[in-house]
Amino acid sequence: MPLIILDRDGVINQDSDDFIKSPAEWEPIEGSLEAIARLNYAGYRVVVVTNQSGIARGLLDIATLGRIHNKMRRMLAQAGGKIEAILFCPHGPDDDCECRKPKAGNFTTLANRLRINLDGVPVIGDSLRDIQAAQSVGAKPILVKTGKGEKTLAAGLPDGVPVYADLAEAVNALLDIE
Ligand SMILES: [Mg+2]
Ligand SMILES: [Zn+2]
Repeated sequence: MPLIILDRDGVINQDSDDFIKSPAEWEPIEGSLEAIARLNYAGYRVVVVTNQSGIARGLLDIATLGRIHNKMRRMLAQAGGKIEAILFCPHGPDDDCECRKPKAGNFTTLANRLRINLDGVPVIGDSLRDIQAAQSVGAKPILVKTGKGEKTLAAGLPDGVPVYADLAEAVNALLDIE
């Protein structure tokens, strides 16, 4: 089964400069849940890899993050979709961990767990660090303009990274849906 890796904030749900700290603050971007369902239907395993430094900053705890992810999974199930795994980095920018993107620690953990190679695996994100993490493991980065995407695009992207309006459009291109 092919694999696809998605960033969470700004790709699946609306991003916030104040962080997503509660289930109530987690709101899907229009069409994103249905796009994930289309990926599942086309045979993709969908995994989320996300930086959640709000935990290190004391803005939310792991239990609350779990409740946020329960909401995401519940709403996704209603749309007919499923996320196989969520790998998150709970650390802050100064913690010097290996799992905060642009570092690829969570990507390599995933590859080891599933015993797969990430060569050419699509990675959809809205920030340069998503693109960089994907490139560092030989995956295929794709930018969406939702979330921080417009800003990321304006600041300059590495050559050859495809750009789409949102997750729905990126998925349709990937699946060759008109
Ligand atoms: Mg993001
Ligand atoms: Zn980390």
